[in-house]
Amino acid sequence: MTLTGKTAIVTGSNSGIGLGVATELARAGAGVVLNSFTDRKEDHGLAEKLAQEYGVPVRYIQADMLKGSECRALIEKAGGCDILVNNAGIQHVAAIEDFPTDKWDAIIAINLSSAFHTTAAALPGMKGKGWGRIVNIASAHGLTASPYKSAYIAAKHGIVGLSKTTALEVAGQGITCNAICPGYVLTPLVEAQIPDQMKAHNMDRATVVREVMLARQPSRQFATVEEIGGTTVFLCSPAANQITGTTISVDGGWTAL
Ligand code: NAD
Repeated sequence: MTLTGKTAIVTGSNSGIGLGVATELARAGAGVVLNSFTDRKEDHGLAEKLAQEYGVPVRYIQADMLKGSECRALIEKAGGCDILVNNAGIQHVAAIEDFPTDKWDAIIAINLSSAFHTTAAALPGMKGKGWGRIVNIASAHGLTASPYKSAYIAAKHGIVGLSKTTALEVAGQGITCNAICPGYVLTPLVEAQIPDQMKAHNMDRATVVREVMLARQPSRQFATVEEIGGTTVFLCSPAANQITGTTISVDGGWTAL
């Protein structure tokens, strides 16, 4: 599979799933634009490392996905893109009546509205080329719910809907839009929760992972960032030309329950 000559923008890609997706796209030959809201030496260092490792052009562009204008500016600064992966996301856990309004607003803005802005900015260029791939990183929580994650679940269900509408608006123009719905993926963010969970439940690492964290994931195995990246590369391949407006679950069976 070669994506040589294509440019991919991955939002929220200085860690976790975003970096994993960017890495798999670079491995497949695409030029990549990494992004987050920070502008640190390490962020630019990640771009240099990827470029060296895979021999593709890689840039880091700072833009805060909380702000619509910066979402649109990211696409403009990158000079458009062939592949857009909307991945940036945050989480907050609280009961609805205690849920801070600023957290609700930030989650809706970063996890959902940012994809509206980047998609709106990227589509004209994709239409001009007659080719484009938009991959939205949703979640098993885009298809099912859990208590105390109201904003996250509303945003992830929203991005599944946005993916369908985007697909319909560009159907037949060489552009597809789909949502990947991961279950639990072992990212640094998830890894960091393991020691606290071990303490809270008085369990060893393997037991807390299997019985607490992966209780709803029938495989009892985390998905990996490489698997999410590989699914993204598949959605950019010719085999996926007619796959549009749908969701692909990478969740060890969670949503089959
Ligand atoms: P992570 O915290 O490692 O990555 C989140 C990324 O988003 C980081 O690069 C961060 O810098 C970036 N980001 C946060 N706020 C931003 C902002 N305002 N502007 C730009 N970038 C911003 O977490 P992750 O687990 O890799 O999550 C990535 C995506 O995958 C999220 O959308 C998340 O909801 C989704 N997801 C994760 C899991 C999981 O188990 N890890 C499961 C399903 C879906």
